[in-house]
Amino acid sequence: MNSQGGIAFKIGAYPSQKSPMSAPRQLFVTTALPYANGKFHVGHIMEYIQADIWVRFQRMQGHHVNFVGADDTHGAPIMIAAEKAGQTPQAFVADIAAGRKPYLDGFHISFDNWHSTDAPENHELARQIYRDLKSNDLIETRTIEQFFDPAKNMFLPDRYIKGECPKCHAKDQYGDNCEVCGSVYAPTDLINPYSALSGVTPELKHSEHFFFKLSDPRCVEFLEAWTQRVDANGKLVLQAEVANKIKEWFSVRTNADGTTSEGLGDWDISRDAPYFGIEIPDAPGKYFYVWLDAPVGYLASLKNLLTKRGQDYDAYMANPALEQYHFIGKDIVTFHTLFWPAMLKFSGRKTPDNVFVHGFLTVNNGEKMSKSRGTGLDPLKYLSLGMNPEWLRYYLAAKLSARNEDIDFNADDFMARVNSDLIGKYVNIASRAAGFLTKRFGGQLTHAFDPQGAALLQVIRAAAHDIAQLYETREFGKATREIMLLADKVNAYVDQNKPWDLAKDTTNNEALHQVCSVLINTFAVLTRYLAPVLPELAQAVQGFVGVDMQHWHSATDVATIAPYQHLMQRVTPEQLDALFEPPASPEPEKLTPGGEAIAPTISIDDFAKIDLRIAKIMNCEAVEGSTKLLRLTLDVGEGKMRNVFSGIASVYKPEDLVGQLTVMVANLAPRKMKFGVSEGMVLAASHADEKAQPGIHILTPWPGAQPGMRIH
Ligand SMILES: [Zn+2]
Repeated sequence: MNSQGGIAFKIGAYPSQKSPMSAPRQLFVTTALPYANGKFHVGHIMEYIQADIWVRFQRMQGHHVNFVGADDTHGAPIMIAAEKAGQTPQAFVADIAAGRKPYLDGFHISFDNWHSTDAPENHELARQIYRDLKSNDLIETRTIEQFFDPAKNMFLPDRYIKGECPKCHAKDQYGDNCEVCGSVYAPTDLINPYSALSGVTPELKHSEHFFFKLSDPRCVEFLEAWTQRVDANGKLVLQAEVANKIKEWFSVRTNADGTTSEGLGDWDISRDAPYFGIEIPDAPGKYFYVWLDAPVGYLASLKNLLTKRGQDYDAYMANPALEQYHFIGKDIVTFHTLFWPAMLKFSGRKTPDNVFVHGFLTVNNGEKMSKSRGTGLDPLKYLSLGMNPEWLRYYLAAKLSARNEDIDFNADDFMARVNSDLIGKYVNIASRAAGFLTKRFGGQLTHAFDPQGAALLQVIRAAAHDIAQLYETREFGKATREIMLLADKVNAYVDQNKPWDLAKDTTNNEALHQVCSVLINTFAVLTRYLAPVLPELAQAVQGFVGVDMQHWHSATDVATIAPYQHLMQRVTPEQLDALFEPPASPEPEKLTPGGEAIAPTISIDDFAKIDLRIAKIMNCEAVEGSTKLLRLTLDVGEGKMRNVFSGIASVYKPEDLVGQLTVMVANLAPRKMKFGVSEGMVLAASHADEKAQPGIHILTPWPGAQPGMRIH
């Protein structure tokens, strides 16, 4: 690729319907790699759905797509989280990886491969890219001063240093910025800094770091051209709002606070051991900063996929027709529009054809929808409630555009779009026509349409090109709107021709046959238009109408239908309430009739520590000055008597107890009480709330037990 312009840009190259199909495009598509320190959240799922719709659309065009993802596994946060969990970082990220499948399968994300940045392919590729950059004279080393935690024996990332803000003197602020006054500073500016890991005062130490010379004129020139590329129509290749933002990063300028921004700075790509990452070649104890090897994971996952298939990775990447696209969130634009293309360009590799940036997904506008609806949308909870994943795919498609802008998941809007649009306007077309065709015409359709129906079908088929353009340019919201407008036209045709009225009189049989046949044919076309968004539904419709739904350009003439089966349920308010119900607080303890829960489990060894003995009550008397206590004289067979106070005076008279056998704790430490020393404890049962349920019941062994016998 020529960085000075003249790039053959392929977006918008969708072949017109009438022109012969050109050779299939070769597409390599990725989503951003999720950091492997936690489960997916709904923002990840939105990105995967966005990319998946685009990929499925391309596949329907007959293009060849390799769509890959991977876990981003390296860096200090994972190393520290693994240590906290008592695991090796490798075991920690393996556990995270094992949890990915239910999300990806659950939302029909059609990745061809899911890999890891800790895989051998990534170690090898990252090191090779580094070597290539180095031989291109774009790596240099510099000695920097950095905080070191002497207790943990490691250099501290900025986020792991805390201290007092040098400006507003707020305590416990992070090493990179103050959350109270918002000022940005270096960790070395903090007053009384301490390590967030160990709490000790960090020491400033010198360390040699490796830098990627992004300020090199070659890099600056390339990146200015790459980020501001225009297509054959003079339109920016990157999203305009993204390209314009990047432009600011190149210029030397004076900021509002009087400081000067220098343009592109060099990029620190190394970290010192201990670090979970990839060791830098010929630099023992030095590792690539996680952001150096993370995007290389795109290539590693692709290489792993091709190797498994017996394909040649180098040959695949060398194909000049190959197009490479990355779907990412707006928070990682710098890495993908500066560092990553520069790394690829100057290591002699293919640069991305484009980077598609999306905004964030907020849920219920960050506000509670109702008393029971919170703001979190847990994707697995969504699935576990039996909510259809294609509802969410449709809803997000309806909200997504090609622009880098935030979108909001709104529960009421979600219900309206699924129930009124998707089911009310589209699915109902099939259910209204199918019954008549099956019952009255043996499932056979006619092709002799009424003129109005034929014209309607023509209009709907003619929209294929425009809708394809909208998918191609990731204007999914506009695409679904177009499709729903077509569905409106079909429903107007239904209302005018009223098949339910035609069915009342058999002389209208031919008209009924025509109208229902038109409806099923329009339904088949609309289904294909929605297939990138609703792949499972399209599959079901394919079985129902017997027409291929996998290819955009196949014919859609339906000859016969199978008996209609429900294609999609409506979403209910109860499901949405359950989805946003805050997680239940821990279950209240199950109370026994005794008024208290069973105590935590103990081992047999714990139990063996308690020496319970049969005791004979030799004497018993009231205690002067106490209405609660009785003084018991007990024989536990040890050749001497024990003196034990017991709080049973309210229930037992002394004379009733003398001569009885009972159970006592014989090895309880003697306790000094107001009336003397108590040398053990007599066992008795009572309710936890003695006031509410009075009554104390001392234990008595079955006949035959002798004083001094141990209870096992
Ligand atoms: Zn501050």
